[in-house]
Parts: sequence; structure tokens; C-alpha cells
Amino acid sequence: MTQSLPFEITKEDSFFEKLGDYIGDVFYDILPEHGYELRDEQIFMAFQIEQAFKNKSVVFAEAGVGTGKTFVYLLYAICYARYTRKPAIISCADETLIEQLVKEGGDIEKLEKALGLTVDVRLAKAREQYVCVKKLDYLAHRTDDEDILSVHDEIPEFVYEPAASMKSFERYGDRKEYPWVPNEKWEKIAWDPLQQCSTCDWRHRCGQTLNREYYRHASDLIICSHDFYMEHIWTKESRKREGQLPLLPEASTVVFDEGHLLEFAAQKGLTYRFHSETLSSILTGYMDQDVREESLTLVEDILELHDEWFAHLSKTSKAVEGSVRKDVPRTEPMLTTAKTIAEKVDALLEQLVFDSELYVMEDYHVKIMEEYLEFFAYGLRTLLQDGQGIHWLEETETQTSLVIMPRLVEDILRKEVFSQKIPFVFSSATLSQAGDFSYTASSLGIQKYASFSVNSPFDYETQMKMNGTVTENESDKWEAMGNALNENNGHSLLLFSSLEEMNRFRDWTANQSWTFEMIYEGDREISETVKQFQRDESAVLCSYHLWEGLDVPGESLTQVLISSLPFPPNDPVFQAKRSHAMDPVTEVDLPYMLLRLRQGIGRLIRSSEDKGSVRIWMTNDQMTKYEKQVQDVLPLPINWT
Ligand code: SF4
Repeated sequence: MTQSLPFEITKEDSFFEKLGDYIGDVFYDILPEHGYELRDEQIFMAFQIEQAFKNKSVVFAEAGVGTGKTFVYLLYAICYARYTRKPAIISCADETLIEQLVKEGGDIEKLEKALGLTVDVRLAKAREQYVCVKKLDYLAHRTDDEDILSVHDEIPEFVYEPAASMKSFERYGDRKEYPWVPNEKWEKIAWDPLQQCSTCDWRHRCGQTLNREYYRHASDLIICSHDFYMEHIWTKESRKREGQLPLLPEASTVVFDEGHLLEFAAQKGLTYRFHSETLSSILTGYMDQDVREESLTLVEDILELHDEWFAHLSKTSKAVEGSVRKDVPRTEPMLTTAKTIAEKVDALLEQLVFDSELYVMEDYHVKIMEEYLEFFAYGLRTLLQDGQGIHWLEETETQTSLVIMPRLVEDILRKEVFSQKIPFVFSSATLSQAGDFSYTASSLGIQKYASFSVNSPFDYETQMKMNGTVTENESDKWEAMGNALNENNGHSLLLFSSLEEMNRFRDWTANQSWTFEMIYEGDREISETVKQFQRDESAVLCSYHLWEGLDVPGESLTQVLISSLPFPPNDPVFQAKRSHAMDPVTEVDLPYMLLRLRQGIGRLIRSSEDKGSVRIWMTNDQMTKYEKQVQDVLPLPINWT
């Protein structure tokens, strides 16, 4: 579908001149006619963003809640996509923010209504957001779990009928279509990195494939998460080499909404993830072939060492509150075994060359093995080079995975992302440290950029109250929270620093009775959880993720209770950051906590009509150390009680 520009343009006209006129009409006339306030900040932002589009450069747009920044970047992105005939990519921090943008009554729909536009917007969600029919079908024949069986029943008929015509194929399989499934059950039936999609028999009728085919043809906007955008960047070349299309099509521009979270997504996207069983399943398949004695001995040695190594990792790893990443110490035996495995894997790779020349194995098997062994050897080398990688263990009921992540990503981002001559817009309420954007820019490998900051237009003094309580005792805190909820008759968001903290509160509430609904993050699909909170005005939402992105104006949210200062967890990723900082507290912990705290408080006042209160709990030690820093980033003085 090709969309036309929302303004007249001839071959002699300059696109940017015409666009400038149109944007002026939109902000000075059309939007005010539809009841939107005329805001000088929007005009200022529009001018700054236009420069980035003209120069095809990077702009950091720091703008608080209520400045209307989304309207500005959406307008430019849509018009530029239509002009260049390539979609714009809007990359959001996570799946909740994707839904916020496209939800009924969200910014895209508002813009469509006010400007009489039909925007072709399609979602490119993370792979974990789609059901894996291969896993689902296997499990459905071995379980009596109602939640899982009802997902199986909802899968369209054509998926189970190999002879079905392609005309009957329809999109399905998005996590959102199965809101009743809790997160831990979803993991059992969703795509995971262990799935070998390129050789899967269900591939052509898999929901993920069908959804990908759909969004690829968007003419205006493709909305994805930062994680998915980074996965696209890192896999682009290898997919092309294998004759596959990149995950995302070529874009006219990329907007990073909540762009301050991009660095972590980039690191995450570059991780090497090794499941304890993958190497043995690949090499055991090799042993079934007619291979030479030398190769067999190497395979047996590798498998034995690999099992010992994973057992050692599991035994020495330690759980960390607030994180799924278990700390694995760099012990001498762990590193020595890793080194021996790496040497043997290199030797096996050499043997494979002989094996393939002697035609003792099918080419296809050799290729799969070579690819995995090279990937494994590269990960081990990153692990062995002290200071280059960050590693941790993730364990579930059924799987153990070692994850290795590079510490710095700026060089790769500079080369693979920001060398493209297209406009890049970073939008967030928190991109600078007191107007200085250099920390964000350098961590992303960006050398040249424009930047600006615009404050929120809300009158916090009349719209909001800020309270604080100092306590050492958690049960006193739960008691005080319970009272605050009752006094407000619900209508509240409770923010916790970790799942563990939320669960301790949940245990305490088991003996309480409430006159309003208590909703907990993770019990249902996240956008359904948010909808339920918005619909049921008195409900209370307990969450450990929604410090950012939740946009619920009105009576549903008139109180935000912040259970503790949101410091980063002591997990391997943050430990690595701390160990490379001159002053870990001021360079890592405080900036992270203050930014998240500002974001959390920002959930309360979402419109000029909103009113409400925030209460923060701190310990005595935190009061002594951080009271001033906390106060400095807040819009009002805290009233301590
Ligand atoms: S293609 Fe991948 S996600 Fe789809 S069913 Fe097969 S293994 Fe699962």
C-alpha cells in the first residue's frame, strides 16, 4: 500500500518547505480546532526535529510528560516515510510501550482523527511474544493444563492441516491473543532461543512467520521494541548470507522512544546464550554419522568436559535479588576447563574440514555443527578475555543457560547503526544529566548530534503532593501502604524494586481484605493487565516493571506508592559496570536509581486535569546518603512524615 502525503507537492517544490508549512498548519490551526492546546514547546521541538530530518543526523529530544513530543516525531516520521516510500521504524523500550502507542485512544489514533489520516502502522514484536506451535502441539498432547489446552484450541485450523491452501493462512499467535495465560506458562509454549526455526516443518504456517510477512510491508510505521531492533541489526548480515530477509526492512528513519534504554538493549542483543543441552544434542547427532576415530574422541572429550563445566557453573552460581541473572565467579577451575573446551572445539572444527572433504557426513550436518561450534568458541573466547565480557547463569525448572555479553557496545553501534545516513531521533524525558547529553551519546557511539530539552508543562505544585516515610521495618511499611490504599479507596499504582519485593508484599496481603481489586504484574498478559487497571477505576496495580511507559490518566491512578528506591540489582551486568567506574555509586547506581525514580513518579500526572499524591519509602541510611540527590530530581519538596 502506498500512502500519499497529507499536503500538496509538485516536482518543483522543496519537500521540507512544504512539510514545514504543513507542520505549522497542524500545530497552529488544525490541532487547536480539535481541542488541543497550542503549545510553544511543540513548535520548538518540531523545528529542532526538522533539522535532524534535513541533515539526516541524530537528535536527542529530551521532553517531559505532556509536552506532546510523540505527536511531533510521529508527524515527521509518517510524512518522511511517505516521501521516501520506506517505512519509519519506531523503536520502543518494551512491549508495554508498543501497546501504549497503538492502543485505542493512543497518540496514533488521536493524530489520525485530528488530521483525517489513515496511518498504516504494523507491529514487529519480539520473538518470545509468539506462540511456538511446535512446542505447543507437543505439550498439548501431554498435559491437562486448561490454560495451555485452550491456547491449542484457539490456533486456526489451517496450522494443523498440511494440505491447507496458503489463501486460508491468517495471522495468529501473538501473546496478546491469549491474555489468560500467566507468564510462567507462556514460556512453555512461546518461541525461545533453543528453537531451530530455519529447519522447522511448521515454519510456513508458524504465527511468527506470518506476522513477520505482514509487518514487512507497512508503508508508514513499523513499531518494535529496542531488543528486536538490535536483534535485527546483529542478525542482518548473517540472515542475508543464508538467503533470508533481515528481520526488518530498510527504514527511512528510526525513532528511539525512551531512547535512554537503548544501550542495554544493544548489549542484550549481542549476548551469546548457551543452553546446557544444545551442544550435546548437536554433537550426539554427529556421533551417529560415519565419522573418523580422531573426531569421535574429540567429541567425547568435549561432551564430558562440557557437562562437568555446566555442573560447576550451576554449583558455584549465586542468585541475586531483583534479577534472573545468577552470579558465576571466575574461579580458576571454571576458566581452566573453559580454555580446554575452547582448544578442543577449535581442534574439532579443523577435523570437520577433513570429514566434509571425505564426504563421510552430509553437508547440511557439517554446516549446522560448524556454525554452532564457531559461535560457542567465540563466546568462550569472550569469556576468557578478562574485562571484555560479562557472564551469568540463568536457570529455570527445565533449562540452564550460560549468557555472555560484551561490556561495551559503542564501537559496534557506531559502525552498524549510526553510520547510516538517515535521521535518528531519541525521545525521552530523561536523556541528559542536567542538560549534558555526552554520557548517553558516548555510551551509544554517537559523535555528532543535536540536542534540546523541554520541561513538562504541568503545574505540579497544585496537581501533586509528594510525601516520604523513613522506615527500617518492612512489615511497618506494608501496614502503612495498606492504610494509604484504604484511605485512597484503591486507585493506586504500587512500584517495587524487584519481583521478590513485590511477592513479600503479596504474602503480607494474604491476610488482608480489600474493597478494591488487587492486580499483580505477571498474572496475565501485560497489556491486558494495564487495560484491567484502567477499566476498573478503583483497582490497585502492583508492579516491578512499570516504572516507565505506563500512561493511565484520570481517576484510575491518583496515588503512586514507591516501596523502595529503585537501585539496580547486584547482578553481573551492574557489577561489571561498577567495576569499570571510578566511582560506582555516582557513575552507576545513583544515575540509574534517580532516572528510574523520576520515571516512576512521572506515572502520576499524565494530563493537566490529573491530581494525586506520591509516597516514597526510604531507609535511614538512604536518607543520610541520598536525600539531597533524590530531592534535586523531584518536581516538589518531599513532605516527610
Ligand atoms: S518456526 Fe520456530 S517458532 Fe515456529 S513453530 Fe517452528 S520452531 Fe516454533
